[in-house]
Amino acid sequence: MERLVRRRVAGEPLEYVLGWAEFRSLRIEVDPGVFVPRRRSGLLVAEAARRVRAGAIVVDLCCGSGAIGAALATEVPGLQLYASELDPVAVACARRNLGTLGGTVLQGDLFAPLPETLRGRVDLVVANLPYVPTEQIALMPREAREHEARIALDGGPDGLDLHRHAAAAAPDWLAPGGWLIIEAGRQQAPVTAEILAGKGFETMINSDDEIDGTVVIGQA
Ligand code: GLN
Repeated sequence: MERLVRRRVAGEPLEYVLGWAEFRSLRIEVDPGVFVPRRRSGLLVAEAARRVRAGAIVVDLCCGSGAIGAALATEVPGLQLYASELDPVAVACARRNLGTLGGTVLQGDLFAPLPETLRGRVDLVVANLPYVPTEQIALMPREAREHEARIALDGGPDGLDLHRHAAAAAPDWLAPGGWLIIEAGRQQAPVTAEILAGKGFETMINSDDEIDGTVVIGQA
């Protein structure tokens, strides 16, 4: 106990000290460096859950610990869930969180590691991509800026580099009428919506003030 308290006092995120974070009532394992699931990302799960049912093909893009996919797979049993992630440390973590739920975790950049057979057949993509503008990382809480992998936070100059990449690549993978749901900052959301609209998506923005969450929802 003393050892754990010392780590927390030294500034390590509580979730790393304990080894897990609560997300949508699940215990999600988080290893040091892996993005800690945020309560606000529950909005991604809620919006995704109402748009899919058993049998649907779902992709959790840049899945980190796999928290979003794990919650979705728990709330909508029977999904065919794929999760992709670039950071090998996070991949290992996601495999533990998604393994028992039947999810497949693939290592690679965005859609690149997905099997070719999924092209044009994905029903829904859910994505909490890194979206912090590079210069604003310095303003994040110490737990985040000093302990979470930078690759999980840094979204480039305006924070939307990954939103642009995902919006450009998603139409190829989605089935007609398929969904792309992306978490965004409240100020960024209209820009993300424009990016999606520019790739042919019908878009809407939804916010939940209680958990300070905002998502941009696009339909192909
Ligand atoms: N500001 C966001 C958060 O801490 C950053 C999340 C992200 O880049 N995906 O929740």
